[in-house]
Amino acid sequence: MPIIYFIGAGPGAADLITVRGARLLEGADVVVYAGSLVDRELVRTYAPQAEVHDSAGLTLTETTRLLADAVAAGKRTVRLHTGDPSLYGAIQEQMVELDQFGIAYEVVPGVTSAFAAAAALKQELTLPEVSQTVIVTRLAGRTPVPERERLAEIARIGATLVIYLSVGMIEEVVAELLQGAYTVETPAAVVAKASWPDEQIVMGTLADLAAKVRDAGIDRQAIIIVGDVLKAGQQGLAAVSKLYDKGFSHGFRDRQG
Ligand code: SAH
Repeated sequence: MPIIYFIGAGPGAADLITVRGARLLEGADVVVYAGSLVDRELVRTYAPQAEVHDSAGLTLTETTRLLADAVAAGKRTVRLHTGDPSLYGAIQEQMVELDQFGIAYEVVPGVTSAFAAAAALKQELTLPEVSQTVIVTRLAGRTPVPERERLAEIARIGATLVIYLSVGMIEEVVAELLQGAYTVETPAAVVAKASWPDEQIVMGTLADLAAKVRDAGIDRQAIIIVGDVLKAGQQGLAAVSKLYDKGFSHGFRDRQG
């Protein structure tokens, strides 16, 4: 019996899926995806012959049943997820159900939209002596966020922040961040539709980001990146990485990065 592949589709551009993901998609008989633009484009590119189902109108149980039936019928079945399936992908609940049916599956990672956004900005998220920590988070929406992870709490750390699913509430994002280690001078960027032909970049500070985002008409499919690492482009680096320091042995570099 074939297994189900949960595949990360990447952020949008059809050639940003992994080679493994593309090969499995090309061989798929049945593809189930969540109706996103990313996935539709990829299915058109790699699996034009496959039987395609949009899970948007289905309950979890219906989706799982669809996957299970396809596999039981001997069909090569792919569940496609935008970006990487492990971030805001709701895959765990699907896998729990498949476990109950005794159906095997594998997960193929994808390029998450945070990394497509960093690439669009030509920005390293971890700079020596500025920030060595990246926090991936979101504001509460229909899905609640645990109290201890409230954005204002997380903002106390002052690390590089990557915020998904929240651009529609940009004013609230900024207000929460200002309760933490960030100030009105902290640089911030929004990348909408990263890696798509109509990608948009908005750069600013926490003082003006919300207004600029509204002016640009961005209210969905965007990543917010906040932190002093974004200053490097304008102000130069605080310190360079020891990685490429001549006095730094390669043995150490290989082990510790
Ligand atoms: N699993 C996906 C995230 C799904 S949640 C991933 O790894 O990227 C959907 C959120 O992802 C959107 O609200 C937006 O914040 C972000 N997103 C998805 N595609 C994007 C893109 N091309 N550009 C910017 N943000 C994107």
